[in-house]
Amino acid sequence: MTYTNFTVETDADGIALVTWDMPEKSMNVFTVEVMDEIEKIIDATVADEAVKGVVFTSGKSSFSGGADLTMIKSMFSMLAEEKAKDPQSAVQKLFDAAGRMSWLWRKIETNGKPWVSAINGTCMGGAFELSLACHGRVAANSKAVKIALPEVKVGIFPGAGGTQRVPRLANAQDALQMMTTGQSLTSQRAKAMGLVHQVVEPDQLIPAAKQMIKDGLKPVAPWDEKGFRVPGGGVWTPAAAQLFPAAPAILRRETAGNYPGALAILKCVYEGLQLPFDTALKVEQRYFTQILQTTEAFSMIRSLFVSMQELGKGARRPAGVPKTDIRKVGVVGAGFMGASIAYVTAAAGIPVVLIDRDQEAADKGKAHSEKLVSDQVGKGRMTKEDGEKLLSLVTPTPDYSTLSDVDLVVEAVFEDRAVKKAVIEQVEAVIPETAIFASNTSTLPITGLAENSRRPEQFIGVHFFSPVEKMMLTEVILGEKSGDKALAMALDFVGKIKKTPIVVNDTRGFFVNRCVFRYINEAYDMLAEGVPAVMIENAAKMAGMPVGPLSLNDEVAVDLSQKIMKASIADLGPNSVKPEHMALIDKMVDVLDRRGRKNGQGFYDYPPKPAKKSLWPGLKDLYPQKPASEVDVNVLKQRFLVTIALEAARTVEEGIVTDPREADVGSILGFGFAPYTGGTLSYIDGMGVKIFVDLAEKLAAHYGDHFKPTPLLKEMAANGETFYGRFDPYGDVEKAA
Ligand code: NAD
Repeated sequence: MTYTNFTVETDADGIALVTWDMPEKSMNVFTVEVMDEIEKIIDATVADEAVKGVVFTSGKSSFSGGADLTMIKSMFSMLAEEKAKDPQSAVQKLFDAAGRMSWLWRKIETNGKPWVSAINGTCMGGAFELSLACHGRVAANSKAVKIALPEVKVGIFPGAGGTQRVPRLANAQDALQMMTTGQSLTSQRAKAMGLVHQVVEPDQLIPAAKQMIKDGLKPVAPWDEKGFRVPGGGVWTPAAAQLFPAAPAILRRETAGNYPGALAILKCVYEGLQLPFDTALKVEQRYFTQILQTTEAFSMIRSLFVSMQELGKGARRPAGVPKTDIRKVGVVGAGFMGASIAYVTAAAGIPVVLIDRDQEAADKGKAHSEKLVSDQVGKGRMTKEDGEKLLSLVTPTPDYSTLSDVDLVVEAVFEDRAVKKAVIEQVEAVIPETAIFASNTSTLPITGLAENSRRPEQFIGVHFFSPVEKMMLTEVILGEKSGDKALAMALDFVGKIKKTPIVVNDTRGFFVNRCVFRYINEAYDMLAEGVPAVMIENAAKMAGMPVGPLSLNDEVAVDLSQKIMKASIADLGPNSVKPEHMALIDKMVDVLDRRGRKNGQGFYDYPPKPAKKSLWPGLKDLYPQKPASEVDVNVLKQRFLVTIALEAARTVEEGIVTDPREADVGSILGFGFAPYTGGTLSYIDGMGVKIFVDLAEKLAAHYGDHFKPTPLLKEMAANGETFYGRFDPYGDVEKAA
């Protein structure tokens, strides 16, 4: 029999080597067709008497990344369509679809012949669950092997047997840790946990897997044997009595109860370990069906899985501009940002010239790459040769003529119009006619900067976030005259350095910073109302924000906020900044010299390490304090999320953001907006625009006009619309199809 996605070769020992290698895909993923073929392979190998056992592996450099986008999307659209027809049978259909993979893996486990999974590279989600259902697991001793059940990160959980097999192989604490965090394991760690049987050199992978079968591997899972005992003894032991009551409390501390998928893992493990295996799988299937219907799962999968991949693959790239190969990049300004931009460019294998005003400054910029490389090599994350190769790609120099053959220039000089103007002129005098000029400005509108350019259609904003090495997001900003070629090349560059781009039109603060300022401003309001600072910070975290607003302000620097506020007043007039905000920040900077982490004192105090930072006690004396009992934490949480979401809605209304995926992905990757909501606009869509409008009006009555819902929101509420309906990101594609 032949298959589209697999080859099956049976050797003289009767061992069938099943190699998964999907045509025209860089990575194996589960589709309905793949699952159908796996079922056929199970049936065929069972029926073929010559087959004694099966080794399952991948023909690609990775094993598999798990489920396919289109399969997940179609499951949600099936659910929506069926729910409209008959809600009860829709849930039954979802239950059946959700269990397909789980029962297919169970079929492997109980087929009567031994199966061994040979894990050669990244093995995620459903692919590791398939491996867990095999009777043997061998992993390559290679850094390329990353084993994980990361479903919790997109709002769901390992629902194809993962929550049952992992705690029957590993101890319950490790199992819960692995699944509730979605962390990746190395081959060695997976072996130490009991999740794989052997770790062998990559070239020994298939022989070792075959040998397991030849050595008489029993085609029975441990839990299907009589007398099986869960590692550590199950849930009725003294150790479990310590673990299970504490686990939900720990989870709550870490996630503030915002992630139903994570909580479901605890339930599945605790309940499942007390049941026979097939019943336990059914319990898992029920919870999985329940979680799939939560707003959190829907929104997180859409933003963090589907949209993120689509944007990463260039969803906003203009059609018709051929893909460009970025062969050389110039970075002008080798300071804090430029040095990091040069590093990530070289790390992607692109030669980069790093220019500053003199050789010493340029060398200082390259020293940043040298430090990062030596840290990586020291930690064993990079080989010495790879490190040397990376560094050889960075050429520091003050000589602009080295830009004569670049494809793209990123400008990261001082945030000063005059300095940037001079640099634009100097750069354009030497770069090729075809090259693109990208400014990394954070506050200056691109349209204005482009007025200094001889070819504004090749001028664009590419806004990085600090620390550049870690932050996944890049904002690409279109000036009024930026052309398709500039956009396409900027996106090609961002893709090559493995960042996720969002494309926004020009505005003060672009998308991310506009939202971030709202977050911080709300904290200023709360401080002025006398809300204890500790409640402000904790409420933000309970709302799902990774960093409290005062802490965030300290990181970006309080005096930078002052500079930006003053610039707004100068450019837009006195009403653009609340006088109380300006007074607070002027006092912090000019009177108290509390500038943030950078001078060791801001909203927090930063004692020398190892002492931890703590909120500055003097904050209590700035405003008369309210007793904590008079502050409603739920309202604080709502204020943070609503003020940010309103700003995101305004950017859509003003035509700054045109695709809801970008507001959602941008808000999560840019400043960690409560990921369980799926992002700023999914937060609004998730609760319903009408409910959001009512909530915003209620907040406006108490906390200021900035909460007043905008005309667009009111109109959408009246019409029963959603952002993803009204600004359908697939609309044009569907119409064209
Ligand atoms: P920085 O002061 O650390 O670096 C600026 C560098 O530009 C300095 O090394 C300086 O010597 C160099 N420079 C100045 N004039 C020059 C010239 N004529 N030719 C060549 N080099 C010149 O500043 P930074 O924080 O790296 O910011 C750079 C740009 O990036 C600014 O536009 C800023 O708004 C933007 N930005 C900063 C951040 C951030 O977190 N710091 C984030 C996003 C964007």
